[in-house]
Amino acid sequence: MEKATRQHTKEHNFRLVVRTIYAHESISRAAIARLTHLSRTTVSDIVSELLEQGLVEETGTGESAGGKPPILLKFCQDAQLVACIDLSSDQFRGALVNLRGRLTHQSSLVSRGDTGNTALQNVYILLDELVSTANSPLAGISVATPGIVDTANGIIRRAVNLDWADQPLRQLLQDRYQVPVFLANDCNLAALAEYMFGEMKQATNLIELKVGRGIGSGIVINGQIHFGDGFAAGEIGHLQVIDNGQPCTCGNRGCLETVASTHAMLQKLRTILKDDQYVSIDTILQDYQEGHQEVCQVVNQAGRYLGLAIAAFVSTINIQNIFISGPIIRLGEPFLQVIRSEVERCALNLACTATSIRYSSLGSEHVLLGAAALVLSQELELF
Ligand SMILES: [Zn+2]
Repeated sequence: MEKATRQHTKEHNFRLVVRTIYAHESISRAAIARLTHLSRTTVSDIVSELLEQGLVEETGTGESAGGKPPILLKFCQDAQLVACIDLSSDQFRGALVNLRGRLTHQSSLVSRGDTGNTALQNVYILLDELVSTANSPLAGISVATPGIVDTANGIIRRAVNLDWADQPLRQLLQDRYQVPVFLANDCNLAALAEYMFGEMKQATNLIELKVGRGIGSGIVINGQIHFGDGFAAGEIGHLQVIDNGQPCTCGNRGCLETVASTHAMLQKLRTILKDDQYVSIDTILQDYQEGHQEVCQVVNQAGRYLGLAIAAFVSTINIQNIFISGPIIRLGEPFLQVIRSEVERCALNLACTATSIRYSSLGSEHVLLGAAALVLSQELELF
């Protein structure tokens, strides 16, 4: 029992030192001891181990506080890589990401709506390429997938677009590549990326609403993804907002996705205007900016439904940092204003106070970064 406790303390101290070095550009052993309240001997022993593992290196000297100037330590961002893939769009994307979230290599594969075993083979093709390209050891493989993901057992319970049910992806990939494998829902990972690499890094709680062909969200609480009791937290796209509305991919009718996704907006505009030109957000952008009546009506209505969904979140869990990502952000500030007004109209004023709703600044690599962040957090425990 005593031995177990000692081992536990050792692991705890080790993590503490690694995290402290990771959180700084460069830092001396003395400063680590001061910040962690560990003895200088303990810090020195752990640092020696990290130097040996190649995770940390010595990088010049710092300012002297009177005596000998201290040697500074820095985290080796390229010591290991994470192989990440994102299956949430029409194009399967892959990347090798270093320990600071920099993409060192990217690849993609047009999936042409492939499902079932063909989709799985595409995952292997992408990962084979990434694994053979990696020039540093792999800390792990991380997969961002649409659908309900049992993250505890590494099983994709249901991914409609890929036609996967109870897909034991973690086991399959672990057997094939012999490295730790992590998987999670793409929207949950988008939220984690926001926490780890976004512009509000200090926000310990946040919600990310990803709006594209589908709608989903991710919730980060105290720096960790909130997966939910049944791994379906954030599945707001399938909240019914209209009785007997349009049929949805989930089998229900009138879900948020059927009125506020880019797919729904474009489909509605093609029908109303009898114009097949409306195929992407970019095709409606100019009309929206110029105040084209029907286009504004459809787009702003979608914005109000998104506002309603956000208001439900704000009223329930009172998280103040809300980010919106996905192709929808091309619609710019006027669209965001519609969403904000609706949140203010629908939610309790007190809950809304200090709530910030903004577009994510992470760009197209957003989900891949989230996949990397999952390994940095769960395998390397860097945050
Ligand atoms: Zn639905």
